[in-house]
Amino acid sequence: MGLWLFRILRSNRRAQCPPPTNSPKPQAPLRPPISREPRNEQTKCPLFSPNFPAELRISIYEAVLGDRHRFMHVIPFDDESNRVGRRRCEDMACEGPTWQHKCFGTWLERRRSSRKRKFTFHSSDQILALLLSCHRIYLEAIHILYTANTFSLKGARGILAFNSVTPQPQWHQIRYLNVSTIFLTPQRYWPEHERFPPDNYCQWSTSCETLQNLRGLRSLHVEIIVWDTHEREDSTAVEDDALVSILEPLNHVSAPLFEIEVNIAIPETVLERLGKRTFTLVVKSRPYDRILFPL
Ligand SMILES: [Zn+2]
Repeated sequence: MGLWLFRILRSNRRAQCPPPTNSPKPQAPLRPPISREPRNEQTKCPLFSPNFPAELRISIYEAVLGDRHRFMHVIPFDDESNRVGRRRCEDMACEGPTWQHKCFGTWLERRRSSRKRKFTFHSSDQILALLLSCHRIYLEAIHILYTANTFSLKGARGILAFNSVTPQPQWHQIRYLNVSTIFLTPQRYWPEHERFPPDNYCQWSTSCETLQNLRGLRSLHVEIIVWDTHEREDSTAVEDDALVSILEPLNHVSAPLFEIEVNIAIPETVLERLGKRTFTLVVKSRPYDRILFPL
C-alpha cells in the first residue's frame, strides 16, 4: 500500500510540475557512428541464452521502441546547437495542424498585457535507453526504431534536421512519415523565411529531395495549409506559381501510400502543370489556433 501511495503522489507531483526545458548549450562535437561489427555476444545473459526465443526479444523491442499510432515527433532545437530531439506525441486529440501540437513546445505565456511565445521543448531521450544499454541489443533493435514508428516532422527544417542526424541505413528503413507545414503567398514575400511559421520556399525543394531517397517508405502523409497573406479567406487569391513550387518537389517523391492534404482545392491549371502525380490529393481544413500562431 505504501509503494502504491508513493507512486500516486509522485505521478501527481509530475503532473503539477511544468515540463523541463533544454537549456542552450554549445554544439557537441560529432561522435563517430556506432559500429555495426559484433563485439560481445553476451552469451551469459539470460536474454541471449538459447532458451530465450529471439522472437520474444523482437516483441520486447517492438513494444518498447515502436508505436504506429502515436507520432514520434522529430524536433530541431531552437538554441542554435544543431541538436535534434524526439518526443512521443502527447497531443493526438489535437484537431489542428500537426505542427501546432503542444509536443513541439510552442506555447503562449501571458504576462499582464503582454504575450510571449516560447520555442523550447523537452526531448524524450529515454526512448533510446534500451538501444544504448547494450551493443548487441543495439544491433538487433536499431532498425525497429525506424520501421515501427510514424515519424512526424514540422516543415522543411524538420525534414532536413531529421535527415542530418539519421545514418543512411536507417534513413532507408523509415516506413511511415507525416509532414505538416504552412505556406503563405505571394511566394516572393516569403522566399527564405527563417522562423516557422510560415515555411521557407527555398528550403522546401531541398527537403523534398531528401524524401526522394527514402527507399523503404510505405506511407507518406503531407499536411499543407496555403493562404494568401492579404486575402486569407479567398482561396482563389493563392497564386498558381506558389502552389506549383510547393507541390512539384513532392511529385518526385513516391510511396505506396502517398496522400497530400491541402486546405484548398488545387486549381486545374496547377494540376495540368504538375502532370502525372505520385500522390493523391485530399481537401481538408483543420481548425487553426490563431492566438498561439498569429500570422
Ligand atoms: Zn504531438
